[in-house]
Amino acid sequence: LFAGGADFLKGVVAMDGLPPADRPEVCFAGRSNVGKSTLINALTGRKALARASNTPGRTQEINFFTLGESHYLVDLPGYGYAEAPMAVVKQWQALLRAYLSGRATLRRAFVLIDARHGAKAVDAEIMGLLDKAAVPFQVVLTKADKVRRADLDAALARTRTVLAKHPAAYPELILTSSDKGEGIASLRATIAGIT
Ligand code: GDP
Repeated sequence: LFAGGADFLKGVVAMDGLPPADRPEVCFAGRSNVGKSTLINALTGRKALARASNTPGRTQEINFFTLGESHYLVDLPGYGYAEAPMAVVKQWQALLRAYLSGRATLRRAFVLIDARHGAKAVDAEIMGLLDKAAVPFQVVLTKADKVRRADLDAALARTRTVLAKHPAAYPELILTSSDKGEGIASLRATIAGIT
């Protein structure tokens, strides 16, 4: 789907480090440990393209990947680490806001949520930022292989209730398992179709 495959391009810590806005771009956000690195690796077919490193307090980068020559995929740092120093959180939020509201080629954000738990308060916070920045976003449920049917229904209901409050949200949820490969091809096709 992405001719030439996927590659790491660069990590960015400030707005002036962004690559040229010359192609459609999607970003991935989610709380730490939601399975974001694993999903990006599954999507790109590369084993360790996105590092699963979420050291709290470490300078957090916005990581850019190329999907062939057609799209950028952007990996936003995981959120929800209570232990991160306030100064780091503040700096990160400022960069996130600047990126979300100032990136003309950002077409869609994918907000990753654990299929076992559904949307939590911290997820609603990032959705609020996306509303404000008018970035359309779609929820991707992760770790579908770990959830029981009854729990999935409850998590879906909870997530839909949260989404209804967010004008920038797509109503359709994408269910994935990086372990089982479920939903990966369809997510890849969704991204490839974004112009
Ligand atoms: P990140 O912090 O969001 O980048 O999360 P990681 O990608 O590092 O994943 C966190 C943990 O969840 C790791 O132990 C992964 O192996 C596990 N994990 C990620 N995706 C899946 C999945 O689809 N199914 C299962 N069962 N485990 C997963």
